[in-house]
Amino acid sequence: KLYNMVQDLKGNIRVFCRIRPAFCAGTRNVIDFIGEDGSLVISDPLKPKKDGRKVFQFNRVFGPSATQDDVFNDTQPLIRSVMDGYNVCIFAYGQTGSGKTYTMSGPSGGSTKDLGINYLALNDLFEISNQRKDIISYEIQVQMVEIYNEQIRDLLSEDSSSTKYPFLLNSVLENDNLLILAISKAFILPDATLHTVKSTSDVLNLMKYGEVNRVVCSTAINNRSSRSHSILTVHVHGKYTSGNMLRSCLHLVDLAGSERVDKSEVTGDRLKEAQHINKSLSCLGDVVTALAQKNSHIPYRNSKLTLLLQDSLGGHAKTLMFAHVSPEEDSFGETLSTLKFARRVS
Ligand code: ADP
Ligand code: MG
Repeated sequence: KLYNMVQDLKGNIRVFCRIRPAFCAGTRNVIDFIGEDGSLVISDPLKPKKDGRKVFQFNRVFGPSATQDDVFNDTQPLIRSVMDGYNVCIFAYGQTGSGKTYTMSGPSGGSTKDLGINYLALNDLFEISNQRKDIISYEIQVQMVEIYNEQIRDLLSEDSSSTKYPFLLNSVLENDNLLILAISKAFILPDATLHTVKSTSDVLNLMKYGEVNRVVCSTAINNRSSRSHSILTVHVHGKYTSGNMLRSCLHLVDLAGSERVDKSEVTGDRLKEAQHINKSLSCLGDVVTALAQKNSHIPYRNSKLTLLLQDSLGGHAKTLMFAHVSPEEDSFGETLSTLKFARRVS
């Protein structure tokens, strides 16, 4: 049923909202109602109930008790369309602490329980490819990069001096011709290392490696992971029994925290980071909104993020945004702004 729903959607952009469980039982919860049909009602803690209620409508809303499997079940049809040649982009948006990394990778601390979409998706691609009688052969390759302050870094590079940005892709990206060549030829991020994976254990190992690489940097620059975008790209090449080639890619994106920082309080590097994040997230919003409105001009070129994701946003590609929100009352402002962002693109 969901498969049909996903297939039938006119625009190629879907929005799922996920609410993380409350951290401490004592605080007031701003979530009033979660409907089976994708409706969500929140209430402003500072206003009387009937004035402070706001209603949103998404393709799906996952409440605090939704499991990783529940979320994956509804995402699976989209993931599987990669084996039909579609490019797919799934990204997690929301303030720091709202559960983006939980959805994409899994719980913090590197537990192998409750793994997220990144792992479940790759696992599923292996499974479905082996089952499909119309696919003779296939190969799955992955890349993992991080965008921090508009600079792109390869997280799977074997160069251990990773804090020095060993693979600066920016010069290549600045050169339009090269980028377009790279995209139209192979959907590959130029220069970022490409790793062939043959099993889910290969995938787990690579993801661990990428996470470690990300963390190495974040201890040097206080908790950087919440201020960078991380992109896991899965390239699929294959051959159908018909003789047609299969070539597609899947981008799985854990975005930087969307919270507004108070400009009067931050200066220097923190301010620069915040400005880069605001700019790239608003560029992403502009691109997805332009796509949803079927505008003829799509402003991909305004940020590295949208440039890199270009092959899987728009055209025949399918896009899914997870809008992550925290239920606590002190997050109400950010929750509202995340829901508004999500409404704008849906
Ligand atoms: P973000 O990546 O948006 O900053 P995290 O994914 O790191 O947020 O989530 C913050 C904390 O909440 C982590 O400790 C994470 O494991 C936990 N958490 C987030 N979402 C859930 C969930 N749905 N169920 C259980 N724990 C969660
Ligand atoms: Mg995170």
